[in-house]
Amino acid sequence: MAAVLALMAPVAAQAQADGQRPEVAAAAQAVGDKVVAWRRDIHANPELGNRETRTAALVAEHLRALGLDPKTGIATTGVTAVLKGGRPGPRIALRADMDALPVTERAEVPFASKVTTTFRGQQTGVMHACGHDAHTSVLMGVVEALVAMKEELPGEVMFIFQPAEEGPPDGEEGGAEEMLAQGIFKDFKPEAVFGLHVFSTLNAGQIGVHAGPTMAASDRFNIVVKGRQTHGSRPWGGIDPIVAAADVIGTAQTVVSRRQDISKQPVVLSFGAIEGGIRYNIIPDQVEMVGTIRTFDEGMRQQVFADLINVAEKVAQAHGATAVAQVPDTKGNPVTVNDAALTERMLPSLRKVVGADNVVDPGLTMGAEDFSFYAREVPGLFFFVGSTPQGQDPKTAPSNHSPEFFLDESALDIGVRALLQVSLDYLNDPPRG
Ligand SMILES: [Zn+2]
Ligand SMILES: [Zn+2]
Repeated sequence: MAAVLALMAPVAAQAQADGQRPEVAAAAQAVGDKVVAWRRDIHANPELGNRETRTAALVAEHLRALGLDPKTGIATTGVTAVLKGGRPGPRIALRADMDALPVTERAEVPFASKVTTTFRGQQTGVMHACGHDAHTSVLMGVVEALVAMKEELPGEVMFIFQPAEEGPPDGEEGGAEEMLAQGIFKDFKPEAVFGLHVFSTLNAGQIGVHAGPTMAASDRFNIVVKGRQTHGSRPWGGIDPIVAAADVIGTAQTVVSRRQDISKQPVVLSFGAIEGGIRYNIIPDQVEMVGTIRTFDEGMRQQVFADLINVAEKVAQAHGATAVAQVPDTKGNPVTVNDAALTERMLPSLRKVVGADNVVDPGLTMGAEDFSFYAREVPGLFFFVGSTPQGQDPKTAPSNHSPEFFLDESALDIGVRALLQVSLDYLNDPPRG
């Protein structure tokens, strides 16, 4: 095992410089300390989705200080700005997310979050447990670097700092979908959109990228099986929703295992909570169940929705009960698709930054991303930047969303260089056709 790990260990140091634009190295060096300082400041002051007022103000102030004219308050706290280069060229967009999570931080860093709040009625800490603090600070650094190269820069770059990637609070709109609904790509239609995510599943020094569908569509569902309440000793006096719900859960397992062509793409259907009843000798009126569906293909996604509704309704009916199946019960995230041609085109840029051996294909990720909404509008590329310190096994490292999620700050420098290299390579040599 040790030998395997040693073989797989990143070899960032010697590979870095091969083909990387000299201006990228210089710019990353120039903004490096600031990016770290911003990240620590944002990390110590995390804000939940649609509440990123301090973070958004920090971003907007930075953009103004650089001479840009940011638009603020988009989709609550979103900020965008467009940099016009001194030479003609294509339009691209770079995106970062700003929101934190209701997680009480246990990572041992001097700038650990002490922020608390009430979330869905529960007292909780707030933490940048998904690393969006890194994404925001990296993009702030990239803006500064590109502004410094403005005169020689071909084309135009839109910077997108969006709120609520993890989803808006109940009853609110938010995130990428809302940014688009408010027209950010109407005023400025990019040819390509780029984004990154720091992930514990890779070591610092590595970049992960998968062409085609890369992150799953994520959808929630809610099923209520309704019976008729009666005494536990006289089940024939009512309709038992517990037995009916148990059969719904059992038969729902066939929605994936017997009906989906999983040789094409994987599908996951999981129940996360069931609730019903109050006492040992009362058969209750109803049972409520909630869960999640993950898919990588729109057709398969729609088929799972239809089949699960069918199973819930028909199985409940066989018991004399009824089922109200909301599948999905809220707007989910579509599949995040990395445009195949764009991915192939930009892979060399990523390899130049960390070395070919350190750009890995992580395969499919069952997690979801609302970057998917931008990538549905224009060709997109979303790549992963490793955040687990070298020498630590990413398989056992605390994952994103864990209270112990830890970001090796060398990932910030890699993030800045990767976004810069990708942007400059694209702008200087756009695809023809
Ligand atoms: Zn997350
Ligand atoms: Zn995230």
